[in-house]
Amino acid sequence: MTSTERVAEIDLDALRHNIRHLRDVAHPARVMAVVKANAYGHGAVPVARAALEAGAAWLGVAHISEGVALRRAGIEAPILTWLHTAGTDFTAGVEHGLDLGISGWELERVVAAARELERPAIVHLKIDTGLGRNGCPPEKWDALLSRAVAHQEEGLIRVVGIFSHLAVADEPARPETDLQVQAFREAVAAAENAGIDVEVRHLANTPATFSRPDCHFDLVRVGLGIYGLSPFSDQDSADLGLRPVMTFSTTVSNCKEVPAGQGVSYGYAYRTQKPTTLGLIPVGYGDGVPRIATGAPVLVGGRMYPVVGRIAMDQLVIDFGTTGIADAPDGPLGKRAVLFGGAGSPAVEDWAAAAQTINYEVVTRISDRVERIYLDPGKGSAGDDADA
Ligand SMILES: *Cc1c(COP(=O)(O)O)cnc(C)c1O
Repeated sequence: MTSTERVAEIDLDALRHNIRHLRDVAHPARVMAVVKANAYGHGAVPVARAALEAGAAWLGVAHISEGVALRRAGIEAPILTWLHTAGTDFTAGVEHGLDLGISGWELERVVAAARELERPAIVHLKIDTGLGRNGCPPEKWDALLSRAVAHQEEGLIRVVGIFSHLAVADEPARPETDLQVQAFREAVAAAENAGIDVEVRHLANTPATFSRPDCHFDLVRVGLGIYGLSPFSDQDSADLGLRPVMTFSTTVSNCKEVPAGQGVSYGYAYRTQKPTTLGLIPVGYGDGVPRIATGAPVLVGGRMYPVVGRIAMDQLVIDFGTTGIADAPDGPLGKRAVLFGGAGSPAVEDWAAAAQTINYEVVTRISDRVERIYLDPGKGSAGDDADA
């Protein structure tokens, strides 16, 4: 069956559990489920629908085009978009009723689109409280506010939100977050003084949602956490009450006994020390497996085995460390091989460590060549509400 060749199973029950848990953590603030970059590789439309079912109030994506794709799939919830370029189709953003994050120059483009469509644009003004990426610099904030107020009075925009993004919330002990919170409070106060009736103030990402209740304000923007992953180096998913949503698996596609001294894969970066059995795992960097993740664990038949030698475009090799199994009736050939997933499987974080990156990147890069299968066992059943 082709559907089991290479699969990222997406457990929508786990996703709904995570959303409900994050709602509890953030309460009384509401939850924006961040589904940019194809929901961190999990599939934007099914994830967005499940997140809304579980009580997310908003969706967040980076690009207007991502928001338009959600609207075309029939999703009517508020969707915030915040990363625009000179080539962005602001008309599409206004036409589809997307909420538009504005740092400065975008305002005039958005107003032009609203004027043309004779429909007010929904706007969230973004202050740079210290991240140094987009967001309006504090010294230009008053000018941005007065332009926004003028356009609002003309009926061309409706400013519903003020927001900013944190730089070091994944390291809760660092002092810079306090400075960002202070700058954010000042920016909100300035907006209110300028006559803007701010409906939603939002600052927190996943790490701040867990570690900084003082950052919750009216809405938290959570990405990583809804996928069941931890942003902290000293706490795992279970510590945070989260369940990993993606399980990435394939099957052992070849299995052979080799002598000591066998070179494995390109460059012979690995040679067997003793006679052993190698398993071929038919996924590689073309499937989004990080090429440098040699040493990462793969689960076969209840045990973990390390990736040995270089990871190639389509395949990688694991060493079973033993002989006499390759041709055994219950040998590894054809067995399920799990690269990462929930309890009992290797963790996304094991792959992130082997690849010198973060869990965010590992799941987000799993490529289109890997089929997404949506597991939805609890949908509509009593079990779905049991842990609400
Ligand atoms: C990606 C992103 C988020 C979500 O961050 P997580 O750490 O995944 O929760 C929130 N806000 C903005 C502006 C983002 O770009």
